[in-house]
This record gives sequence, structure tokens and C-alpha cells, in this order.
Amino acid sequence: MAHDCLFCKIAAGEIPSSKVYEDEHVLAFRDINPVAPVHVLVIPRQHLASVAEIGPEHADLLARLFAAVQRVAAETGVAETGYRVVTNTGRDAGQQVFHLHLHVLGGRSLGPVA
Ligand code: 5GP
Ligand code: ZN
Repeated sequence: MAHDCLFCKIAAGEIPSSKVYEDEHVLAFRDINPVAPVHVLVIPRQHLASVAEIGPEHADLLARLFAAVQRVAAETGVAETGYRVVTNTGRDAGQQVFHLHLHVLGGRSLGPVA
């Protein structure tokens, strides 16, 4: 496990989470402080700090992450109504947890992205 990483601990089951989907490579769980009726975090089990660490060797992993996003959207009921996928990278984006994660947001009208 990488250093003292919160999401590595969640992936390892050392910290409980409300899981929506999981497989060998990916885990999806509900955000502890949701900002929308549906707010799920999709993470790779492999530790990558952020988008900044993604390389060509992660192509399969990225496809798995987005396949999981589709599963989460279907299982939470937002596949039809729409949803937003966000990943914060670095200080100015307000990234708090430095383990790559996709926020899946939906269940209400979200307005303009910025
Ligand atoms: P970031 O700002 O890094 O993009 O997002 C981190 C997200 O992780 C925040 O939305 C925050 O609410 C969520 N979060 C932080 N700690 C925990 C936790 O222990 N469990 C869960 N489920 N979510 C967490
Ligand atoms: Zn980690």
C-alpha cells in the first residue's frame, strides 16, 4: 500500500465504505460528504496520485474506470437523466485525497461546469 493513503485503505477494506461496485481493478463507493443526490467516487485499486500520473501503460485501467462509471450510473438510476464525471488534480482544483478518483455526480440539475 502506498504511504498513508485513505483510498488505498478503503480499497483494502481497512476503512469501511458504502460500496456501489467493485471488481479486481476498480472500486466505487459513496462520497462521505455528498454534494448531489448521487455522489459516488470511482477509484483504481492501484495507487496513482492523480491524472498527472497517468501514462500509456494505464490505458486498460482507464477503460475499466469508465466502464465502472457506466455501471455506477446504471445502478444509481442516473444513466437516463445524466451525470457529471469530475476529477480534481492538484491545488487549484482543490484536490484533497491524492489517490486518483472520479466523482460521479447526478440526481439533480448540476448547472454549468464552471
Ligand atoms: P477531492 O477533493 O480530492 O477531489 O475529493 C475527495 C472526496 O473524498 C471528497 O468529496 C470527500 O467528501 C471524500 N472523502 C474524504 N474522506 C472520505 C472517506 O473517508 N470516505 C468517503 N466515502 N469519502 C471521503
Ligand atoms: Zn492510494
